[in-house]
Amino acid sequence: MGKIRFRRGLDADRQNITPDSGEPIWTTDKKELWVGDGNTQGGIKVSGVTTWLGLTDTPASFAEAGDKLIKVKPTEDGLEFVAQGSGSGLDADKVDGAHKSDLEATMDSKISTHASDASAHHTKTTSSEIDHGSVQGLDDDDHPQYLNTARHDTTSRHPLGSVVPHDDHGNLSGLGDDDHPQYLLADASRLVSGHLRPDTDVAYNLGASALRWNVIYVAGAYFYGGTMPGADNSYSLGSSTLRWSDIYAVNTHWGDLGFVETTCPKCGKEFEIGDNIILRVIRFDDESGGIMTVPIHLECANLSPKTIKRKCPVKEHYYVWDEEKGEVVKGTRNKTVKKKVKKKRIKSGYELDMETGKIWKLKKQAKKNVRDKIVEETEAVEEVEEEIEEVLYEEKEFVI
Ligand SMILES: [Zn+2]
Repeated sequence: MGKIRFRRGLDADRQNITPDSGEPIWTTDKKELWVGDGNTQGGIKVSGVTTWLGLTDTPASFAEAGDKLIKVKPTEDGLEFVAQGSGSGLDADKVDGAHKSDLEATMDSKISTHASDASAHHTKTTSSEIDHGSVQGLDDDDHPQYLNTARHDTTSRHPLGSVVPHDDHGNLSGLGDDDHPQYLLADASRLVSGHLRPDTDVAYNLGASALRWNVIYVAGAYFYGGTMPGADNSYSLGSSTLRWSDIYAVNTHWGDLGFVETTCPKCGKEFEIGDNIILRVIRFDDESGGIMTVPIHLECANLSPKTIKRKCPVKEHYYVWDEEKGEVVKGTRNKTVKKKVKKKRIKSGYELDMETGKIWKLKKQAKKNVRDKIVEETEAVEEVEEEIEEVLYEEKEFVI
């Protein structure tokens, strides 16, 4: 059997020649068949892959296959065009199942590595890049070396005087609260329920000449020193309507001597300026044993005896502890009866102007009471009931 052989040689040599039109060339190294056209250097390739249309098992054309992908048919006997993202086609924005697992595995590995690298998590220190408030678990007590509410409550951590400003009493809140009822209040709104005594005998004053108490009400008083008026020839002891029942003194020194009697009990005439009077003894005092007298005209002294009536205090016996004698002694005193009387009194916070008779409402100014405005009596007066001890009197006849 005879043979017909094409011109043949290496592909490199083919590229250096221009075969004649219709002249075939076979490359022995690349196993390709080329045919010349008389113009093209190296000729025109006849065999081998040149275009998709030249492939076997390829779609018939590219019509309507723009931007589509090529894949092997499921039947494994050809190629086909598929649109991106449809079916099993590739999509630039999507990952198919085959790559998903690979990517996930890679990502898991990267995340695991990142998670174990603590330094990789705390590199951002610029303000606002990491918001502390966004960190989870802020309520956890992860840092026992720091104080929190529970540890802060340990009082041993705060010895008095060691913490500023909590150790300043003035910084405490609620100072206006009345939390200590065992103490007196500066505004005197708490009543005293015990004896008020100084800690040293004869050492302190109650008030001062420039800071005087207004009125002192006491049931009884003992003095161990001189009792003086605030100024010479000033102030009265009692008044014509508020008299002491009895005054006892060893010596009395007077300026003008006055008597409450206005008429001579012997002649019944009123005393006049220029009258001479004497004191007629009418009885002895039951308590002191001293004489009790009434004033009469000097010229009435020798008139015939006359019986008069006088109110005298009823006396009673009582016992008292005599500190000097150190024993109980029996005494005599005026008998009194306790009596409740209703009084209309000017309320605290108001003041009577003794020159005008007007009543003023007072107000505090620099801690002092000053007059605010004149008010009606109905506002300033209150009715109170007081218990007093009234001396009992009995009427007796005396011959003068
Ligand atoms: Zn007379």
